[in-house]
Amino acid sequence: MPKAKRIYLDHAATTPIAKEVSLVMADFDRRQFGNPSSIHHEGQEARASIDSARADIAEFFNCLPQEIIFTSGATEANNLAIAGCISDYVSRHNAKPHVITTILEHQSVFNTVKTAYERGIIEATFVEPDKNGITDPKKIVAEIRDNTILISLIFVSNEIGTLQPVRELGKLLAEYNSKSRQKIIFHTDAVQAVKFYNCNVKKLGVDLLTFSGHKINGPKGIGGLFIKAGSRLNKIQFGGSQEYEKRAGTQNTTGIIGMSRAILLLGSLENRESLAKKIRKLKDHLADFAVNQKIQILGDHSLEKSCPDILTLYFKNLDQDTLLARLDVAGYSVSNGSACSSGSTNPSNILKALHVPGKGAVVRISLGKSNTLSEIEKLEDLISNLINRGSHPKKLLAKT
Ligand code: PMP
Repeated sequence: MPKAKRIYLDHAATTPIAKEVSLVMADFDRRQFGNPSSIHHEGQEARASIDSARADIAEFFNCLPQEIIFTSGATEANNLAIAGCISDYVSRHNAKPHVITTILEHQSVFNTVKTAYERGIIEATFVEPDKNGITDPKKIVAEIRDNTILISLIFVSNEIGTLQPVRELGKLLAEYNSKSRQKIIFHTDAVQAVKFYNCNVKKLGVDLLTFSGHKINGPKGIGGLFIKAGSRLNKIQFGGSQEYEKRAGTQNTTGIIGMSRAILLLGSLENRESLAKKIRKLKDHLADFAVNQKIQILGDHSLEKSCPDILTLYFKNLDQDTLLARLDVAGYSVSNGSACSSGSTNPSNILKALHVPGKGAVVRISLGKSNTLSEIEKLEDLISNLINRGSHPKKLLAKT
């Protein structure tokens, strides 16, 4: 039997590395190998390359180069943001701080807060979104206590693609902070937002912002955290004095060079908006199909309230594993919610908040720039065959 052509629809899990990025990385590896902390020629060359990459990335986020800290990815950056703020407070006060976040967060935020709470180190509040998967910024502000030190709100949900009100919350917090003694630090995980949205940290009003290389056609194993100058945050990993003493360990120089090229390739905001428009057309086509077929779409999928590339569908009568396997055999790579979330309690919290029952199948489709309308139309045909397959209903029915 001929092998089905692969159609990749899991760009929220990871993206293919851009050819230009891999060429730049290979060329860099051929020419340079120095340790950027060494004082000799090779070290200083590597240092200069990192400095230039840091400057390009800082320009993208509209911050100072020294406000960009490189990490091994967004998971580490989120851990540094949350645990670093908690550690700073705990080391200066003999009291428990309070942290507010949401149940929409990626596990690297959610579980870091949850673990600190379960260990008795912090008080924590996990704010629920409305039934459309959007968090109300006023609901977050209403949870502020005298000892609140940190609020973390994801920019775009990696599970359901809803856009969260980061800018609005930034404004509310700026107002709050101007009147309060205790400054609350505002963190956003912008991993899924960087490729389409304006991530100017001043416009967003954030103190900390997380990004990752492999979600923007860059390499895996590299990411970073914007840390606004003056933000109180301790390092959480000990060793050398790299990354302005905020993250010890020899930098992944080649990864940094690759990620900065991937960020440059995103281009201007106009470029990103026109890519968003092209991808949203495919998402809208799929969403219209889902509505016609009475397949439930999780979360708001409108232009104003959702990202252009993620659509998450809920099939109440189908079994998840069977459905994903069928799609895979037909050549389609999609995800069950978030690829890195299996076995975790976080997605079921999201589903609960959206009033989705425990059984059935949740499929996240995340589009990329190489996808075409004909691929989406074929997927729609395949899905309608699967749901309307009267002759083999048992194979696709959910386990009860
Ligand atoms: N945050 C979000 C919103 C994500 O989607 C992901 C990746 N699934 C991460 C953090 C973790 O990123 P990384 O793979 O770079 O650790």
